[in-house]
Amino acid sequence: MKAQPKASHFIDGDYVEDEAGSVIESLYPATGEVIARLHAATPAIVERAIAAAKRAQPEWAAMSPTARGRILKRAAEIMRTRNRELSELETLDTGKPIQETIVADPTSGADSFEFFGGVIAAGMNGQYIPLGGDFAYTKRVPLGVCVGIGAWNYPQQIACWKGAPALAAGNAMVFKPSENTPLGALKIAEILIEAGLPKGLYNVIQGDRTTGPLLVNHPDVAKVSLTGSVPTGRKVAAAAAGQLKHVTMELGGKSPLIVFDDADIDSAVGGAMLGNFYSTGQVCSNGTRVFVQRKVKDQFLSRLKERTERMIIGDPMNEATQVGPMVSFDQRQKVMSYIDKGKTEGATLVTGGGIPNNVSGEGYYVQPTVFADVTDEMTIAREEIFGPVMCVLDFDDEAEVIARANATEFGLSAGVFTADLTRGHRVVDQLEAGTLWINTYNLCPVEIPFGGSKQSGFGRENSLAALEHYSELKTVYVGMGKVEAPY
Ligand code: NAD
Repeated sequence: MKAQPKASHFIDGDYVEDEAGSVIESLYPATGEVIARLHAATPAIVERAIAAAKRAQPEWAAMSPTARGRILKRAAEIMRTRNRELSELETLDTGKPIQETIVADPTSGADSFEFFGGVIAAGMNGQYIPLGGDFAYTKRVPLGVCVGIGAWNYPQQIACWKGAPALAAGNAMVFKPSENTPLGALKIAEILIEAGLPKGLYNVIQGDRTTGPLLVNHPDVAKVSLTGSVPTGRKVAAAAAGQLKHVTMELGGKSPLIVFDDADIDSAVGGAMLGNFYSTGQVCSNGTRVFVQRKVKDQFLSRLKERTERMIIGDPMNEATQVGPMVSFDQRQKVMSYIDKGKTEGATLVTGGGIPNNVSGEGYYVQPTVFADVTDEMTIAREEIFGPVMCVLDFDDEAEVIARANATEFGLSAGVFTADLTRGHRVVDQLEAGTLWINTYNLCPVEIPFGGSKQSGFGRENSLAALEHYSELKTVYVGMGKVEAPY
C-alpha cells in the first residue's frame, strides 16, 4: 500500500501496533484507493500512551527553555528539509493539491516549531510584584499531560500547532488525528525523535469518536485541545468540565466577508476565492457569507464567475492542479446535499453546482460553486457546509451589514474589503469574531493569535497567547518580616 506506516501508533519513541483495535482504512480521496490500513487504539494503547507521557514530562519541564527550544527548532529544520516528502503524504492523506501542501502544510508546522522553539526562553517568564517589604513573584508552569484531537483538513498543521506550544511550555502530548487523515501526525512524531526530543513526550494514537472520550476522560490528562465541529466541541468541553480540565476549542464557522463598493474588486474577488475554495473549501475560517454592496454586485459576480471557471480541477499530485477532491465520500455527499438545498430554496446558481466531469469517477470531487441572491434565512447561509460553496448576499449600508454579519451563533473569523481606512477599522471593531482581516483574508501566520468567539470556541492557537493556554500561573508570596498574629 502506497502510504502504509510501520504501525498505527507512535508511543514512547517508537511505532506500536495492537491489532485488537478496529480497522481504520485510509483512502486516497482522489481515487478512493486504500493507501494504508491501521488500527484504532484499544484502551490498553490509550493507557500506554498516557503513561509514557506522564513519565517523560517532569524531566522535560525541568530542562532549560533554551535546551527545549533547540530541539523544537531542529524539528522545524528537518521538516523543511523533508518538505516534499511530507507534502506528498499530506496530499495522499487529504487529497489537497500538492500546489497547496508544498507551501502551506509542513511549512506552517515547521513555522510553529521554529516560533515556539525561539520564543520559549522569554515566553514563560513570570512577574516580580513588590509589596513594600514583602514581595511576590509568579511562575508560568506547564500543565502536565495534554491531549490534542485533530480535524482532517490540516492534519500536519494541527498536529504541530498543538504540539509545538505544548512541548515548548514543558508539557507532554498525546495526539489523536482524525480517523480520516491518520498518517501525517505519525511522521511529526518520528521527526521530533530524530530532532532529539526525549521519548514519551509526543505520542500519536489512532481512533475515532469512540477513542476521543478515553483520552478526554482520563484522570491523568490535564488539558484537551480540540479542532473539530461545534457539536463535537460541546461534547468534549462537557466531558472535560466533569473533571475541570483546561480546554482549547477550535471549532466551526460561517464567517462573513464584507465587500464595500469602494473596494479593489479584483482583490476582493481573490480574497473571496481564497476564502472559499482553498483546500476545496475545507477551512474553518472561510468567509462563506460574502456580503457585496449592491452597487458593485454585477461587477463582482462577473469577475468571480470568470475566475472561478478558470480554476484547474484534477489530479492533486499534478503541480498545476488548483482544486482537489473533498476528503471523503461522506463529505462530498454532505456538500452536494447543501448545493441541492441552495437550489431548492431559491438561490441563483452562478457557477458550479455539480461533480466535475474531467476527473476519475472514484474521486470525491465537487465543482467550485457560487450562489448569488442568497438571503439570510437560507440553509446555505446559516449552516457550515465545509466545502467549495460560496454564498453571495447583497447589502445596502454599513449598519445593516454589520447586524446581518453578526446574526449567527458562530464567531470564528470575519473580513472587510474597503478603500476607506477608518471604515475598515470601524467595521471590524463591531464584528463578533476572534480573527479578522482588512483587505485580505485567511492569512494565519504563527506570530498572530488564532481562534474563535461565540460557538466557534475559546482559547487561542499560535503566538505567545498559545503558551498561556498550555501553562498556568503559580504565585508565591514571600514574607520578609516576622509574622504578626493577633492571637
Ligand atoms: P469532527 O468534530 O467530526 O471531529 C474532530 C475530531 O474529534 C476527530 O478527531 C474525531 O475523531 C474527534 N471526536 C469526535 N467525537 C468525539 C468525542 N465525543 N470525544 C472526543 N473526540 C471526538 O470534525 P471534523 O469533521 O474532523 O472537522 C471538521 C470541523 O472542524 C469543521 O466544523 C471545521 O470548521 C472544524 N475546524 C475548526 C478549525 C479551527 O481552528 N477553528 C480548524 C479546522 C477545522
